[in-house]
Amino acid sequence: MIASTSAMAAHAREHGYAVPAVNVLDDISLRAVVAAAVEASAPLIVQISVKTVKQLGTELTTTTFRLAAQDAPIPVALHLDHCPDRAVISDVVAAGWSSVLFDASDRDLADAERETCEVVAQAHAAGVDVESEIENIVGVEDGVGSDVALHAYSVEQLADIAKRTGVDLLAPQLGTAHGQYKARPVLLPDRVRRLAELVDIPIVLHGGTGLTAEDFHAFIAAGVSKINISTAVKMAYMKAAADHLDVARAKDKWDPPTMFRQIQGAVTEAIATHIEWFGATGHAAGALAAGVGR
Ligand SMILES: [Zn+2]
Repeated sequence: MIASTSAMAAHAREHGYAVPAVNVLDDISLRAVVAAAVEASAPLIVQISVKTVKQLGTELTTTTFRLAAQDAPIPVALHLDHCPDRAVISDVVAAGWSSVLFDASDRDLADAERETCEVVAQAHAAGVDVESEIENIVGVEDGVGSDVALHAYSVEQLADIAKRTGVDLLAPQLGTAHGQYKARPVLLPDRVRRLAELVDIPIVLHGGTGLTAEDFHAFIAAGVSKINISTAVKMAYMKAAADHLDVARAKDKWDPPTMFRQIQGAVTEAIATHIEWFGATGHAAGALAAGVGR
C-alpha cells in the first residue's frame, strides 16, 4: 500500500524503531528493496535522487513505483531525496509522491526559511510531506551537496525554524556523512535527544551506510525514526554486477537477465540486514493498522 512518510515515521518513533528509507536507481533495485521489506514485514520508504528522477523521468519513476508498491502487503512511501531545485519539487508534488526533502542547505538562513515556507505551502496543498534540511550533511551524493559544512546552527535555531516553517520531518547534521567513511565519524545522538525535546516532528538520520548496529540503536533510542541508506545499495548493486561480469567474460557468455537477478538478490540481502538493525521487522501490520496509508 502507498503510504505517508511522516505517518510511518511517527509510528516508528512511538514504537522504538526507524523506518528504512532506501535510495533506488531503477526497477531492479526498487523491486529488491520492496522484496526485502515484504520478507521482513517492515514499513519502507523508497527514495529517489534528483539525478535518478531526471534520468528516468518523473512519469516512469512514479508508474514503476506504483506498480511495485500498490499491492504490496506493507506500507511503502515514495520520497524525493535531497532536492535544492524547486522545479523538480513542483514536478513530483504534482505527480503525487509521498514526500520531498527540500534541501536548502546551500542557502543562507533567511532564504532557507522563506523558501522552505513556500515549499511547505505548495506540498501540503497536494497532501505531500516535506523533510527539511538547512544544515549541510557533509558529502556529495548524486551531484548534490558539499564536502564542507557551510551552514551550521544551534538545536534551538533548528527547532524554531522547523516550527515556523511547518515542516513534517527534520534532517539535522548528526556527525554522519554521505558516501563511504574513511575514518570513524563522531556521532551526535545527543543532538537528536535535545532536538526531540524541543520539537515533536520525526528526526531523520542521513549517511547511514557504514555505521554499526549499535550506532543505529543509539540514534533510534535518542529519537531518530527515519534512516537513509543509499551507498549500501550502490555497493551491493555494482559489486554483484562486477562479479557477474567477471564470470561472463571468462566464459564468454552474456546473459543480462541472469545479471539482473544476481543484482536484485545482492541488494535485497544488503537491505534485509539494515531493516533488522533498525528494528523495523514485523512493524508493517501495526503501521497499517495505525492508518499510515495515503
Ligand atoms: Zn542524505
